[in-house]
Amino acid sequence: MPLPLVHHPDYDAVSVADAHRFPMRKYTLVAQMARRAGHMLLVPEPAGFGALETVHGRDYVAAIFDGSLERKAARRIGFEITPEIAARSRAAVGGTCYAARFALEAGAAVNLAGGSHHADANGGAGFCVFNDVAVAAEQLLAGGQVKRVLIVDLDVHHGDGTARIFAGRGDVFTLSMHCEDNWPTEKPPSDLDVGLPRGAEDGVYLTTLRQVLTQGFELATPDFVFYNAGVDPHMDDRLGHLALSDGGLAARDRLVAEFCAGANVPVCGVLGGGYSKDAEAVARRHMFLVEAMSGICVPA
Ligand SMILES: [Zn+2]
Repeated sequence: MPLPLVHHPDYDAVSVADAHRFPMRKYTLVAQMARRAGHMLLVPEPAGFGALETVHGRDYVAAIFDGSLERKAARRIGFEITPEIAARSRAAVGGTCYAARFALEAGAAVNLAGGSHHADANGGAGFCVFNDVAVAAEQLLAGGQVKRVLIVDLDVHHGDGTARIFAGRGDVFTLSMHCEDNWPTEKPPSDLDVGLPRGAEDGVYLTTLRQVLTQGFELATPDFVFYNAGVDPHMDDRLGHLALSDGGLAARDRLVAEFCAGANVPVCGVLGGGYSKDAEAVARRHMFLVEAMSGICVPA
């Protein structure tokens, strides 16, 4: 089976200008790159109110849908909440839910968006409106398709929203490996947290990751994995503070794929962050995830 890849045209909120430090264009670019590489792209249904409410408070979801979110809360997110931003946020959640279902069959699938790990039950932050991975995890668990979910979050920023949402839950294990000296300053505990020092390079990163994945898989004993493959640990990233090379990021994605395949656990990848000035370079780095996951798809 070819790797199921999910993309929705609404992922790219075109009114967010190139000057914004969030490189919105990367979603269109990575979809183009995937098509050029011969992939078919699946189009998801945007998430509905009911699905979002399994994770987020009703008032918050309503405020995003009708554009009434107060200014201060919107500032924490970093986007003005327009109908376009609401649509992209719903599409991204729908995309992760859709990819997760395909991953159950194919062994692996990728949503070419998502990874909004700073959003929690009560609101959004850091460019994250809805926590797509949390909604998708709840959906799989509620459907009985899986019993124990492991969330491997390798975005350079701590997965604070996800940690808050699943604190104390026995059926979801949260793992975050990030740069310790970076936003968010408050890092509520995940089930397994590893904070790397500023400037960490490929060697130390990959050695640490192998140990962390070994430990995470042992403790979580998952039957499903979500992988946030943010490319903001890259040395050129404006918000990252780590120093991985392109080769290091590609090796990282292969290592995660190898662990999932080795444990015979399906994995749903999501893009996460990436804030280099060059949106084309960011999109190219996100393709490492597509390549790594293609390598572990169940053969047709
Ligand atoms: Zn990030």
